[in-house]
Amino acid sequence: MPQPKEIFVKTDRCVGCMSCMLACAVEHSQSKTLFGAIAEARAPKSRLYVEWAAPDRKIPLVCRQCEDAPCMHACISGAITRNEDNIVVTNADKCIGCWTCVMVCPYGVIGRNMDTGKAYRCDRCPDREIPACVSACPTGALIYETVPEYSKSIRKQASQEFARAEGE
Ligand code: SF4
Ligand code: SF4
Repeated sequence: MPQPKEIFVKTDRCVGCMSCMLACAVEHSQSKTLFGAIAEARAPKSRLYVEWAAPDRKIPLVCRQCEDAPCMHACISGAITRNEDNIVVTNADKCIGCWTCVMVCPYGVIGRNMDTGKAYRCDRCPDREIPACVSACPTGALIYETVPEYSKSIRKQASQEFARAEGE
């Protein structure tokens, strides 16, 4: 199976503009347009959360697609599974709204839809090549790559920093 892409977060690049949250909510609206989403009776919800870790530090949090996903093990109705793309997804039709997945997720990234009584979470935007949050981020704080691709970019950055330090 090819390596799946993950959403990586460069926390030092986040300026807390919330563009990612807005784009996520619009992508998960019925109309998939900003003005259409605003007009919808049930406000669409973001599946990504920008948290204020400190007054000058914002950290976007999104489902980490845990290999041994606690939410999937905990779901008593079998609503949480891995799909053919290896993405952990919630089947709203099977969700009974017990919120067990909410209790066990270590990142707090499963939402509770009070209108429908269903849990919701990041689905990696199945209708898009690149998740909406990643495309919307103006600072490059969200990156959509495979683990080897991401690790390579970190190694390159680290090697450049070594080289710079040696030159000083
Ligand atoms: S919802 Fe939480 S527990 Fe489940 S895979 Fe995502 S980060 Fe892991
Ligand atoms: S769009 Fe990018 S910079 Fe803005 S809050 Fe989200 S992650 Fe941070």
